[in-house]
Amino acid sequence: MTDRRAELSAALTEVRGRIARACAAAGRPEDAVHLVAVTKTYPASDVVLLAGLGVTDVGENRDQEAAPKAAEVAAAGARPRWHFIGRLQRNKARSVVSYAGVVESVDSERLAVALARAAAGRPEPLEALVQVSIDGDPARGGAAGDDIWRVSDSIAASETLRLGGLMAVAPLGWDPDRAFEQLAVIAERLVKAHPGVTTVSAGMSGDLEAAVRHGATHVRIGTSLLGMRNPLR
Ligand SMILES: *Cc1c(COP(=O)(O)O)cnc(C)c1O
Repeated sequence: MTDRRAELSAALTEVRGRIARACAAAGRPEDAVHLVAVTKTYPASDVVLLAGLGVTDVGENRDQEAAPKAAEVAAAGARPRWHFIGRLQRNKARSVVSYAGVVESVDSERLAVALARAAAGRPEPLEALVQVSIDGDPARGGAAGDDIWRVSDSIAASETLRLGGLMAVAPLGWDPDRAFEQLAVIAERLVKAHPGVTTVSAGMSGDLEAAVRHGATHVRIGTSLLGMRNPLR
């Protein structure tokens, strides 16, 4: 456990350095970009260690894994903010809303409505991001075209949700600069329609520099922090 802590601490220093250098290169203040540690496939003990090292935000992509992990982390006394970043079925909305502070992967009006209903009992609104499909391929999730505006309007109209902004993954095989440049254009339009919007969640281990160059406010980092995931999971 001590070794794992040292390993995570070294990786965290490395990732924070990459973010700081990317911010400097883009002429942006270092605190303009927030780190979300993506802990999928890794145990609750890693989340507790990361929280102890100052990580405030963690990301998970499957409710069946995240729900018990969040409970275990809470029982250990750590209180990170959980970001749900995966495809979400409407029948899981109630579970996700019980631990998540942010759902980054809202890509349909139907899901927005389900989340709004599920969030009704919360003391404060649930933050929701519209997941954008940059290449318009629905296979990997994300809204495209006019659906982006329909989903964002639906979130903004809900009293139990708060529209935080956008999330996207660079499409496979795309130059990430081209992908995140397109996302920035969409983000600019979203801010015009909804001036309270602040978040552009873009960039992962392989492309965080490109995301920061194009205005990402949150980067979601798994592999570079925790190590390679088992591909069979
Ligand atoms: C797994 C995942 C990440 C993290 O990816 P890494 O390449 O391991 O940094 C980021 N965003 C989403 C949506 C993910 O599913």
